[in-house]
Amino acid sequence: MMPATPDNPADRATPATASTPAALLRASPLPPLEARILLAHVLGWRHTQLITRSDEALDSASGERYLTLQARRVAGEPVAQLVGAREFFGLDFEVTPDVLIPRPETELLVETALAAMENIAGPRVLDLGTGTGAIAVAIASTRPDARVWALDRSAEALAVAARNAARLLDAKRPGGAMTLKQSDWYDSLDPALRFDIIVSNPPYIASGDPHLSEGDLRFEPRGALTDEADGLSAIRVIVAGAPARLAGHGALWIEHGYDQAEAVRELLTAQGFAQVRSQYDLAGIERISGGRLRDQAPACAE
Ligand code: GLN
Repeated sequence: MMPATPDNPADRATPATASTPAALLRASPLPPLEARILLAHVLGWRHTQLITRSDEALDSASGERYLTLQARRVAGEPVAQLVGAREFFGLDFEVTPDVLIPRPETELLVETALAAMENIAGPRVLDLGTGTGAIAVAIASTRPDARVWALDRSAEALAVAARNAARLLDAKRPGGAMTLKQSDWYDSLDPALRFDIIVSNPPYIASGDPHLSEGDLRFEPRGALTDEADGLSAIRVIVAGAPARLAGHGALWIEHGYDQAEAVRELLTAQGFAQVRSQYDLAGIERISGGRLRDQAPACAE
């Protein structure tokens, strides 16, 4: 790191770049929190250090690097991709442009799955379309005895999920390492496997939805966001395939769009699920729906 002293000709030539954290943050056009996240990332500092060291002269390379990230953010790139990470369920996940950025509302899916497996020892869990691995890793981290399978059709996403699992999970957890597998929904899954819980945050945005061309979504993998149809086609496949993959008491929970809860409940009921219900996220939106497989009773012959 080059010290910013008055004797350094480079500093004399470009006084504007011999900046301090305070000056960079003051001049930033970004929301203050975003500016602090990007600057802390560039400097490798904790957020508190941006305060305690706010008037320290920064080397010009750091200043330039920050200004580059700031410009990319102004042009729309998601903060999580610029810093390569996003916190989810108290864990720090690696994020790349190959995966959906974990959303806070998806923590509801994790909490609900954890509640559904509360009384099951060594539960077997399947996460369909795992992306970063956020859901699967959060469950595996909270329930070290759970045996977790995480599937995605994207090899690039699976590589990210594998790195997150390796970094965030205890290698000696009783449930063993997470099983990562490339699969288009259930297609490549061993048909003999039975799960206690199936979870998924599938692509559920309809192809024509204007949100796809707004905000962070413009930079996320399109295949993780939309089914290129009515928004329910992936959910139909997941619901239809679940009974054959669930143990008798098994539960299925799916995240969906703000206006899809009723349609998803209908799909679950039509597929023979019991205790079908939806749960509200913190924004007051019915965000996930699920049910339990009925115990395989003999068919009713009335
Ligand atoms: N929750 C995301 C959004 O609306 C969409 C994620 C998804 O399709 N699974 O921004």
